[in-house]
Amino acid sequence: MFAQPFIDSLEFARQGKELRGELPVSALSRLQDVLATQEGNIVFHLRGFQSKDEKLMLELLLEGGCQPRCQRCLEAMTFPVLLMSRLHLAEGELDEFADEDEEFDSIAASPQLDVAGLIEDELLLALPFAPRHAEGECEANSAGLSRPEANPFAVLAGLKSK
Ligand SMILES: [Zn+2]
Repeated sequence: MFAQPFIDSLEFARQGKELRGELPVSALSRLQDVLATQEGNIVFHLRGFQSKDEKLMLELLLEGGCQPRCQRCLEAMTFPVLLMSRLHLAEGELDEFADEDEEFDSIAASPQLDVAGLIEDELLLALPFAPRHAEGECEANSAGLSRPEANPFAVLAGLKSK
């Protein structure tokens, strides 16, 4: 069983700590609704740092894969995960920090930040709303249901941006 790591997020960032680990996709309970199988692992690298303007930040790198259900044929599809998020640790009420010109997403600083929960949040944001096989790989193609769609992997082409 995976031991859930918790960090004191502000200390973690202030001291420039790092945490590496690997999570089985099966441990990410909030992902199960969109997944066809529990196959896959997510390797994570969490790093705390201070931005140039002295904000306390976390950088989260995720690499691995999972198998969401294709919304066209309802079969499992391979979804490679490779993403990097930079998150500002907001102290106090989150909405005080909801400036439109914020360069980074903010999350609430916590003395007991649930790292697995954070990883789950970022994966949920990264997964396409309606994942689909690429053209030519989908079972539903032969049923004449094929439509030209954006490649679902395009979302992974770059870093997560706002
Ligand atoms: Zn499909």
